[in-house]
Amino acid sequence: MMPFVYQALPSRVVFRPGALDALAVEVARIGSRALVLCTPEQRDVAEDAARRLGDRAVEIYDRAVMHVPIETAREAREKASRVGADCCVAVGGGSTVGLGKAIALEFGLPIIAVPTTYAGSEMTPIWGVTEGGQKRTGRDVRVLPCTVVYDPTLTLTLPPGLSATSGMNAIAHCVEALYAVDGNPIASLMAEEGIGALARSLPRIVGKPKDLEARSEALYAAWLGGAVLGAVGMALHHKLCHALGGSFNLPHAETHTIVLPHAARYNESQAPEAMARVARALGSGGDAPGALWELARSLGAPLGLEAIGMKRADLDRAAEIATASPYPNPRPVERDAIRALLEDAFVGRRP
Ligand code: NAD
Repeated sequence: MMPFVYQALPSRVVFRPGALDALAVEVARIGSRALVLCTPEQRDVAEDAARRLGDRAVEIYDRAVMHVPIETAREAREKASRVGADCCVAVGGGSTVGLGKAIALEFGLPIIAVPTTYAGSEMTPIWGVTEGGQKRTGRDVRVLPCTVVYDPTLTLTLPPGLSATSGMNAIAHCVEALYAVDGNPIASLMAEEGIGALARSLPRIVGKPKDLEARSEALYAAWLGGAVLGAVGMALHHKLCHALGGSFNLPHAETHTIVLPHAARYNESQAPEAMARVARALGSGGDAPGALWELARSLGAPLGLEAIGMKRADLDRAAEIATASPYPNPRPVERDAIRALLEDAFVGRRP
């Protein structure tokens, strides 16, 4: 057996349909003046959460957007400070949780997260803030939400398209955990379980978005995906997605969906055990990269970067950025091979 280091992250998870009704009790464990965060589109869910908190909700800040622009972070920090918040309740996807993290990074305010997508940010100590077109990221345990309230009923409204790509985003966390340089047996168990649960539930969700059983299984898998992303390091796939999302403003979950099969093919020869586990979880009997692509296709997800706004003229620069300071990766990250990978991902070719 390979030697390993296992470091557990301190967080409390409450998981059940209807768990939002436990929010007031969970907040009371931590604070008495909560700033509730959301996107403009999810104002109604945040208002419901605030109503349940009563006097413990001091204000709603509803301007969370993707990739946490520094201006938004500053405005939200100012708001938290002005209303005397002693905690934040982030109701939404990775963008809203990310805003809570930006506040926590500055003021150390504890976060109670109520995730409504499968991005997994709620389980990680990873923060990101975008300034001048560059996304800075880092790890700091202060930004790890102390409590996560998973209520699958809140995901029933997530549109099928975003459910599919957000689910593939969670699968990507699991795939990279299986070949992470600092991987460990517990993270690998969780990762394989997460891939399997998503491969089973996503087709059911796309076919019937209000299927609560399938929604619960997918959200459980999202928890696993977030937990392994928080526990072990990222590799080529996440580096490519950070480069594409941060520098070319491509949508997060779609980018992950398109890049994953290609990153998996790139690493396949140097990570055979990981790929065998991915294939087993997908029930494909082999060829994990091909099976990931087939899963995305069967869910009706976009398959090419061109379809989500990437310009061919930017592919060379994307290859430069992605190879400039690579994350540890099973196979050496070589510029020409990455440029070829990006070409395949651009046109949406089966890897
Ligand atoms: P998102 O949070 O941007 O949400 C996308 C859209 O869907 C928003 O308009 C949102 O309001 C809406 N939405 C969310 N849940 C919904 C629901 N249940 N019903 C209807 N609409 C809903 O998308 P995301 O993919 O969850 O998050 C992406 C962001 O999270 C990126 O900035 C990414 O970098 C970050 N992220 C960070 C980490 C981390 O560990 N730090 C992990 C994953 C993602």
